[in-house]
Amino acid sequence: MAELDFSKLPNRGWQLVDVVDLDDLIGACQRCGTEIRYEHHCCHPMGLEAVVGCICCGDITQDYERARSLERELKNLALRRAKYRVSPRWYHSAGGNLTISYRGYRITVFACQAGFKAYAGEVCSKKIYPSIDAAKVAAFNFLFKGRNAKAVA
Ligand SMILES: [Zn+2]
Repeated sequence: MAELDFSKLPNRGWQLVDVVDLDDLIGACQRCGTEIRYEHHCCHPMGLEAVVGCICCGDITQDYERARSLERELKNLALRRAKYRVSPRWYHSAGGNLTISYRGYRITVFACQAGFKAYAGEVCSKKIYPSIDAAKVAAFNFLFKGRNAKAVA
């Protein structure tokens, strides 16, 4: 996303809408150009949108604590996901599928013709994933990523 010229935009009065984890330092703050992993999506009552880093988000929303706490939630989620992926509690069910009981949900990964799918609770993925790990991560994100962001918003 292109950098915005904040000398021509309001530097106050923005609202933080959501924070998105890009899983790597592949984003850029549209205000200062800094490489970012956690995109802070902000909007302004004048109908403007901007994607910025944590510090710039604090500047333009005047709410550093909210910018930091939403980013912290996602960092914690990424840590939990990393542990979940290699958890020793994964085991093979009687049917031979890899399964785990995780935070109240049954997650099961199974092979299909073109790759792997996952059940996250009652919901089966529509997409086919190239690896067991990718299917595990998709199930985790489905159950916890959006929900988490909404819960703290
Ligand atoms: Zn910035």
